[in-house]
Amino acid sequence: MDIVKGNMGWIEVVCGPMFSGKSEELIRRLRRAQIARQRVQIFKSVLDDRYAQQEIVSHSEARIEAQIVSQAPDILKQVDPRTEVVGIDEAHFFGMDLVEAADQLANLGKRVIVAGLETDYLGRSFEQVSQLMTVAEEVTKLLAICVRCGNPAKHTQRLVASEERILVGAQTEYEARCRRCFDPHLAAEKVAVSKQTAKT
Ligand code: ADP
Ligand code: ZN
Repeated sequence: MDIVKGNMGWIEVVCGPMFSGKSEELIRRLRRAQIARQRVQIFKSVLDDRYAQQEIVSHSEARIEAQIVSQAPDILKQVDPRTEVVGIDEAHFFGMDLVEAADQLANLGKRVIVAGLETDYLGRSFEQVSQLMTVAEEVTKLLAICVRCGNPAKHTQRLVASEERILVGAQTEYEARCRRCFDPHLAAEKVAVSKQTAKT
């Protein structure tokens, strides 16, 4: 964001598939705010217990301290009135009420930076993230690298048998794929195969 006068708040969204560098970018922006001696608070969902508890950790091991919340309204409760910058990772782990929470924080004059998956393992958009993109002042869409062919990857390929929309995982459960290599049916096929083997 260029020219911002007074204490106007705003919303920045960083989205893309897994491994596209969303957490890295979020951490980079938050670190720069800390270097500028701004008051920063960072939140992550209780669902994201993959790496560290009180930290956001990227796949490249960049890390930053974070507070854990179970739902979006808790962010509003836990934000210090003096906080200038609010970072939120894994937006898709929150409900639609994250949109209202981010909006309220921005209206209070805070810079809100939200990172999250744009689409799920079937390629469908995460509603709270697309809604956030609509209310945001700035959107950054990142791409990963397709592990199959090296092209820019916009999809998160699920590799394991599960049809749950949210399945917390990393490299063994997911990989980045381009639109050509993405196979949205793979997870469902694996579920069908495992049901078949269980019967026999
Ligand atoms: P995200 O938050 O989008 O899942 P991270 O910020 O945690 O992404 O991690 C990004 C880092 O993941 C990259 O800088 C790179 O080191 C690593 N990485 C692993 N696999 C890939 C891939 N297929 N494409 C791009 N980066 C990858
Ligand atoms: Zn590919």
